[in-house]
Amino acid sequence: MSDCIFCKIAAHEIPASIVLEDDEIIAFEDVNPQLPVHVLLIPKEHYANVGDAVPPELLGKLFSKVGEVARIKGVEESGYRIIANTGEDGRQTVHHLHVHVLGGAQMPIRMGPAD
Ligand code: 5GP
Ligand code: ZN
Repeated sequence: MSDCIFCKIAAHEIPASIVLEDDEIIAFEDVNPQLPVHVLLIPKEHYANVGDAVPPELLGKLFSKVGEVARIKGVEESGYRIIANTGEDGRQTVHHLHVHVLGGAQMPIRMGPAD
């Protein structure tokens, strides 16, 4: 997708602070971190979200990298949260499938509807 910012990051057309990368997957620091550790993990190929007919093998590969990101960022022991915001109610703003890996401090407990 030519106008997708994450496709451009995956293609190294715009810069990002890369945490790990292979042929299919890239993880990079979120430009606006919400916690001390905030990494985005994406497939290089464009899918809008987790429901966009993503091949199961690719989804497996994506999630299999979460632990590696946590190890690299030093939060394997302390723990972290993974989030995949999806669609409007999920407050997804970049419509290229991504998993947030958040840690380095405790997440808020609350996970209900917006006030
Ligand atoms: P969403 O709300 O779609 O789940 O999250 C999108 C995330 O992408 C946000 O946390 C936002 O800070 C991050 N983001 C948006 N544009 C860029 C960018 O150009 N570079 C990086 N590294 N992160 C971005
Ligand atoms: Zn894309």
